[in-house]
Amino acid sequence: MANLDFLSKELEQLKADGRYRPLTEWEGGSGSWMTLGGRRVLQMSSNNYLGLTAHPELKRAAIEAIEKYGVGSGSVRTIAGTLDIHGKLERELAAFKGTEATLVFQSGFTTNQGILGSILGPDDVVISDELNHASIIDGIRLTKASRKVFAHKDLDQLEQALKESASYRARVVVTDGVFSMDGDIAPLPAIVELAERYDAVVYVDDAHASGVLGRNGKGSTDHFGLHGRVHIQVGTLSKAIGVSGGYMAGSALLKDYLIHKARSFLFSTSQTPAVAASCLAAVKVLGRSPELIERLWSNANYCREKLLALGFDTGMSETPIIPIIVGSPADTMRFSDALLAEGVYAQGIVYPTVAMDKGRVRLIVTASHTREDLDFALDALARTGRIAGLI
Ligand code: PMP
Repeated sequence: MANLDFLSKELEQLKADGRYRPLTEWEGGSGSWMTLGGRRVLQMSSNNYLGLTAHPELKRAAIEAIEKYGVGSGSVRTIAGTLDIHGKLERELAAFKGTEATLVFQSGFTTNQGILGSILGPDDVVISDELNHASIIDGIRLTKASRKVFAHKDLDQLEQALKESASYRARVVVTDGVFSMDGDIAPLPAIVELAERYDAVVYVDDAHASGVLGRNGKGSTDHFGLHGRVHIQVGTLSKAIGVSGGYMAGSALLKDYLIHKARSFLFSTSQTPAVAASCLAAVKVLGRSPELIERLWSNANYCREKLLALGFDTGMSETPIIPIIVGSPADTMRFSDALLAEGVYAQGIVYPTVAMDKGRVRLIVTASHTREDLDFALDALARTGRIAGLI
């Protein structure tokens, strides 16, 4: 009988490279301190930027939605799966983002796949930053469009690619708003200017900028005052918003097109009632809680400054995503394990997610960390960093 033994060779190679990672099962807690292996551990790897996963209003909204609609939506959006709370969520999100429309997908990943996979054809070209997220790369792979990749934030290369693209029907420049592995911010004003000069569409994935950058966390377009000049914004509902899902924010025309053409939207059951209702509650909380974002940034800046003063290499970080560059996959995972032994969970990120010699432990600072939490993490980092020879 046929079997899947052919898969084991690659797994053995991952183990040999120090890149094999069993899943970590958390046993409880949803804030800064969580339970792992029966022990309280400081969470420094969650994207729960604003601590909303445990917010009482979100929890209440989820429970009420389950009571009213049940636990599942029963269908895809285009058949019987569009509840009034899906519509309300999209209208609230559009008002929040200041765009004509939004369309909610089941995740940020499927949002990128659905949009890129449907809007681009063989006569189009997509021009993408080399460090864009995997879901963008996969979305582009789903299309027959031509592809050009520019070196990270390299505006000269971007301009060159635009110059060479005049003959295409549409030119789409795609960038993350905040880059997920490095925590740096895209030079959006310059990208928008170039795109306008060469008549290109601008597409920004704000997964790590939603709830983080801009007034009340409206994202990188708001942060840079570029309203009306970015054609397609993607947000996630699974990071700062604290629940799960993704969305496109843009024109009503684009929304209408995606409803009819985006395969990840068309062929996957809609968000559950509890998810849609808690996302809706989260957007309301965001709209009235600028202090959460102030705390997030004050924590992030405090932590980064202390790490730099200790002598760590935090790469290009300028947001609450703070990588500590270590090196090889094996050294990176050893450093992450040593931190866990000290009670701090900071996941190692290694090749192929980042370059082979740029393995890093990625810290994510949140608004719910206290100064005591951050000092606890910094103490542990200083001790383990000295032993590892990083500082
Ligand atoms: N885009 C970027 C830049 C991301 O970092 C992520 C999350 N890993 C996603 C998209 C996917 O979002 P989600 O987790 O909601 O699928």
